[in-house]
Parts: sequence; structure tokens; C-alpha cells
Amino acid sequence: MINSILIVGGGTAGWMTALYLSSRLPTGVSISLVESQDIGTVGVGEGSTPYLKQFFDSLDIPEKEWMAQTDATYKSGIRFDDWSHESGYESYFHPFFNEFDKKPAEMFFYNCGLRRRGFEANANPDNYFTAAYIAERFKSPVLAQAPDIQVDYAYHFDATKLGHFLRDKAKSNGVKHHVANVTSVGTDSKGKLKSVMTDTGLKLVANFFVDCSGFQSLLAQKTLKRKFVSYSDVLFNDAAVAIQTPTKSPHKFKAQTRSLALKNGWMWQIPLTSRWGNGYVYSSRHTTAKDAEDELKQTLGLSPNAEVEARHLKMKVGRLEEHWGGNCVAIGLSQGFIEPLEATALMLVQFAIQNLSLILESGSFSGHDMMRYNKEMNRLFDGVKDYVSLHYILNSRKDSQYWVDAREETIVSDNIKYLLKAWDRGEDFEAALKVIEEDLVYLRPSWYCILSGMGRHPERLQPTVKAGPVKVSMDYCQRITDKYFPDYSITP
Ligand SMILES: Cc1cc2nc3c(=O)[nH]c(=O)nc-3n(C[C@H](O)[C@H](O)[C@H](O)COP(=O)(O)OP(=O)(O)OC[C@H]3O[C@@H](n4cnc5c(N)ncnc54)[C@H](O)[C@@H]3O)c2cc1C
Repeated sequence: MINSILIVGGGTAGWMTALYLSSRLPTGVSISLVESQDIGTVGVGEGSTPYLKQFFDSLDIPEKEWMAQTDATYKSGIRFDDWSHESGYESYFHPFFNEFDKKPAEMFFYNCGLRRRGFEANANPDNYFTAAYIAERFKSPVLAQAPDIQVDYAYHFDATKLGHFLRDKAKSNGVKHHVANVTSVGTDSKGKLKSVMTDTGLKLVANFFVDCSGFQSLLAQKTLKRKFVSYSDVLFNDAAVAIQTPTKSPHKFKAQTRSLALKNGWMWQIPLTSRWGNGYVYSSRHTTAKDAEDELKQTLGLSPNAEVEARHLKMKVGRLEEHWGGNCVAIGLSQGFIEPLEATALMLVQFAIQNLSLILESGSFSGHDMMRYNKEMNRLFDGVKDYVSLHYILNSRKDSQYWVDAREETIVSDNIKYLLKAWDRGEDFEAALKVIEEDLVYLRPSWYCILSGMGRHPERLQPTVKAGPVKVSMDYCQRITDKYFPDYSITP
């Protein structure tokens, strides 16, 4: 029976865990969190997937409340610029989906099928999903009048402010908060965790522990020596540099994250109400931190000597083999990390917390619960890793060694090999997706969007061959966007 939980770490993962568990578990379970002010948090992580809406909804926290306190903006998808040099496919949008898209999406899948077999057909996803238009036309993804239509959207937010918001909420739910450095961890003879000691002389005892200590992985890796499965042969970006820039007046932005391919990686641009968040994710095998910072500054239009804070980060990419063992579960960067190209880290944190809570709510857990939990977390991590790796495998750039290596040296998983084979041979792609659906985290439209959006098509057949492609649906998406989605204006 669990009656006391100690969370080590007060980053977004720690406070999301504290808030969620304190809202779900019986009041008899005491929850404490200890965090170090000296070490601080990773301080990035400002993009999300639509699952975050469900997280706040499940806690009855209104959008208006948390968005206002974290400088948040809406996101309808990710614009990928310059990842492909195929003509007509230099840019594409990975949309969040909505019910309006049902009809044009079918046209898109059909046209992709034609284009995969070499026929002339418009197969850029931008033309078939309203989310791309919402962003392009400076609209908000939140419906003005509310027809009964499901629209997925996500958010951008200030990571530090989100942490503070979650902290205040969790504390008002009764979570005890300690600020101190954990200096040692006490275990019993069977390797079960018993307590942690801090530099303030505090001994914190609990019978269940959540490791949210970030890349340090203080409990799971340092203390319990859990095995780390590296993804570095699949995803070789291992560093990032982040720079914040001010907004201009009027602050006009699209409801999107922009991912722009640079020389040795890619740059994110995230609009907040109060500023821009920008960063360059790169491979330290291909460039230095200084050159990456200079390239980022140059791309942002800043001089190399500009007085801006550049935050340099190292990234450990991979996951634990066992996320939960004994009385300790690792959540957040301490359990693993996939580079932020699809902004999936907090989604994985959310799944980890919700799956854990479902089990703990029953009051006790078994070895079978832990096994199922670990299997599901590994499936989610590996599924996201596969999808993210495909961006690199599909890139068609030849202008730097980085992009050539990304295409040629990335280890391709069996599932991705299988999908590529079916796609390239013009086989039934639906059937191929179905065969491996249990392993896939991303749904059908995302696979079509990335493969076709990055221009993975054979040479076109001779013009004498008639394919009769269906009409593109630009007019439809444009009409729907203009009719239902309001203009997006922000008052900082
Ligand atoms: C470059 C980059 C970009 C990212 N972009 C995105 C994104 O767009 N979307 C997304 O979802 N995610 C993103 N992430 C991931 C996201 O930032 C993290 O998943 C999220 O912030 C959660 O981090 P965390 O709480 O696990 O770790 P941290 O924020 O590192 O927190 C760790 C906590 O543990 C504490 N701690 C460590 N050691 C001790 C100790 N000895 N004693 C006491 N306390 C200790 C620290 O003080 C801190 O409070 C990105 C990550 C990186 C590196």
C-alpha cells in the first residue's frame, strides 16, 4: 500500500506529476516534492501536442487561467521548412487534425497513391488540411461559433512560468515542497528506496519515489543503475542552443511552431505572447557550440556580438529499459528523451503520469502492473523515435555532410523499413500501416504527411500516361478556414 510519495525534481515533469497525483489519489496519500535551486530546471520545452489540452481539461483547469499565466499561444501544427530540396516539397505542414479535414484528407491519401506510382498529382499535405490554412492565414484554431466539430490544437508556453503555475496548483492541493539538494539516497538490503538526505540536513522518507531529476536521473540511473537504451545511432543530434528574442509591435504570428533546417541540424521558432523562443538542435559531431550559436544568431538576424543570453544544452537521447521497478518510477528527462522535433516530451510525461495514476488509484500494484507499464512506455518511446527518425532518413539535402550523414548513417528500424518498402513500391500503404499498427504512435495522416510532404516520390511518368488525379481541395480548406476560424490577435 502506498501512503507517502516523494518526487525528486521540480521541473515540468515533477510538478505535472505532483499536481496530477494530488488530484487523483486519496487524501490519505501524502505527496512531497524536493527540488534543487542550485541545479535549476532545463528551462526549455515550450511546444506541445494536442494531448496537453486533455491534461488540463482532466484537472478542470480552464485554458483562460493557465494560458494567461504562462504567456501561452495556440498551435495548429508544425511547419517544416527546407528539410527537402525536392521541387514543390521544400516546405510542408504537419497538421493537427480536425473533423473538417475528413473529406480533403481522403483526397490527399488518394493523390499520394497516384503520385507514389509516378502519376502527376498534387500531393503536398498543405493543400488538404485546414490546420495549415489556419496558421498561414493568421487564424486561431479555436472555433469562433461552435458547430459540433472536433478540432485538435496544442499550445506554446513559457516553460518556467508553466512550472510555477503547476507548482502553485499542486501546493494548493496539499503537496509539500522542499527546496534542497539531494546528496544521498538510502536503500534497503533488497535495493528498495527508503529515503533521501539533503544538504540542509533533512531526511525525507517515503514508501514510493518518483524520479523527476532530469538528465541527472538521480534515482533510476545513478542509484538503481537502471539500463539506458541509447538512441544515438538513430538520432544523432545531441546538443542545443536556445535564444529568446523580443516580439515586435504589432506582435503578429502564425499558430505554428516553425522547424527550419540549418547546416548541422534544425532551428525551432516558437511564438509566445511575450517573446519568441528560438533554438538550434544540432550534432556536436558536425559542428561546435560556438559555430551553432553564430549560425542561430545569423538566422535570427542578430549580430555575432549581440548581447543576448544563449543557453547551451547537452541532450542525452534514449530511454530507460525499465521505467518502473520496485518502489521507484522515473518520469521526464530522467526516464528518457527524444529530441524535440515533434515536441513530444511532455506528451510522454503525461502518458507516464496518467498510466501510473490509473494503477496507483487502485491502492496497490503488482509485478504484472509494472511489466505492463514498462512495455507501454517503451512502445511509446520507440514509436516516437521511429517517427522522428524518418525526418532525417527522408531529407534530400546534399549541401552539408550533416544532412548526407543524417540520411545515410541513421539506423533505420524494421518498422520504418517496412513502411518505406510499401510506400516506394506503390503497394497498399493502408494495409502496411495496419500490419504494424500496434507499434505505431502516430496515426495514418501523419505518415502520409511526412512521406509525401518531404517529397518521397518516384520520377514522374511520361506525360502521355493519364492518371486522372482528383481535384485539389485548396478552395474547400480556404473556405472552411475563413468561415469558421477567427483571426488570431494577441495583446501582450
Ligand atoms: C533543447 C530542448 C528542447 C525541448 N523542447 C521541448 C518541446 O518543445 N516540447 C516538449 O514537450 N519538451 C521539450 N523538451 C523536453 C522538456 O524540456 C522536458 O521534458 C521538460 O522540461 C521536463 O523536464 P524535467 O522536469 O524532466 O527535467 P528538468 O527541467 O531538468 O528538472 C529536473 C529537476 O530535478 C532537480 N534536481 C536534479 N538533481 C537534483 C538533486 N540532486 N537534488 C534536488 N533536486 C535535483 C532540478 O533542480 C530540477 O528541479 C526539450 C528539451 C530540450 C533539451
